Amino acid sequence: MVAEVEAMYAETRFETGLAAMSPAVRAAMGKVERHRLVPALQVALAYRNHPLPIGSGQTISQPYIVAISTDLLQIDSNSVVLEVGTGSGYQAAVLAEIVAKVFSIEIISSLGKEAEERLKNLGYRNIEVRIGDGYAGWPEKAPFDGIVVTAAAPRIPPALVAQLKPGGRMVIPVGGDGFIQYLKLVTKRADGGVDERDIIPVRFVPLVPGPR
Ligand code: SAH
Repeated sequence: MVAEVEAMYAETRFETGLAAMSPAVRAAMGKVERHRLVPALQVALAYRNHPLPIGSGQTISQPYIVAISTDLLQIDSNSVVLEVGTGSGYQAAVLAEIVAKVFSIEIISSLGKEAEERLKNLGYRNIEVRIGDGYAGWPEKAPFDGIVVTAAAPRIPPALVAQLKPGGRMVIPVGGDGFIQYLKLVTKRADGGVDERDIIPVRFVPLVPGPR
């Protein structure tokens, strides 16, 4: 699987600006056993470079997307990151291999609880999962070095920008359900403003509007 992901990096290097997986991301992708995070029915398909259904109408992203999202954040072992959309817990596990602490929010209680249990059983002690609406972020734990949103938002949620450190980066699919979505890289400047860059077209499940 890592080799397939590497090959996609090479194909998309002009769009993403990433010539190859960084060593830290490659190590994390090699280490996290995706078959231990997907539903039993999907285990045989876990090492293909494909998205997979995880129940409740949700999907776990294709490994390539997980890898470039993680790479674009430019995080390291000191980083504290927020994930919106825990899903299976796979992206959280990949992040947790690299950073000091991962906070992850899931709106569907059953998915979030199962992922939390799964990640605990896999031995992760640096991931905290909360059930709630990630549109509002996790203000008590902010600011974050990186934020990754794994469901598509019609626009960049202002609360998430507010919870990024200056110099921090957010990767988020932006675009309505059924419309073209772009994986965007949002960088917060020292003056509090943001720079945005469209990376590649993607298709994510929508960020569900909770009470807001
Ligand atoms: N990162 C996940 C993939 C998640 S799919 C993984 O690695 O498996 C997107 C997830 O976002 C779904 O589980 C969905 O329930 C969740 N989601 C959708 N809207 C949300 C919201 N407003 N807040 C938090 N989670 C949300």
